[in-house]
Amino acid sequence: MEFKNSDNGTILIEDTLCSCPVKYRCKHTAALLIAYHHNPNDTRDQQELIQYFSKQTKNNLIETLLSLGERDLKIFEHLFKIKDGKVRKKRKKAKYIRF
Ligand SMILES: [Zn+2]
Repeated sequence: MEFKNSDNGTILIEDTLCSCPVKYRCKHTAALLIAYHHNPNDTRDQQELIQYFSKQTKNNLIETLLSLGERDLKIFEHLFKIKDGKVRKKRKKAKYIRF
């Protein structure tokens, strides 16, 4: 989910994208917004992860990727697609919200 600060200080939703088959404006996005509405302090910025992982060694990053793949085989499939050059590497910067 991407956000933007409006001129009057409110937060605008710029774009949403979900990994479910619906992709846009799905029930997961709605659930995320409801969770944010009820507990906005429980949100975290993607920048936090970038800062953390940029300090990790290459071996730690490889271990992290492999352990994620062990948790979810779809991640392994995606990692192989990246390796085989079948995935666009450049991605849009997005804010990250945690439930
Ligand atoms: Zn969804």
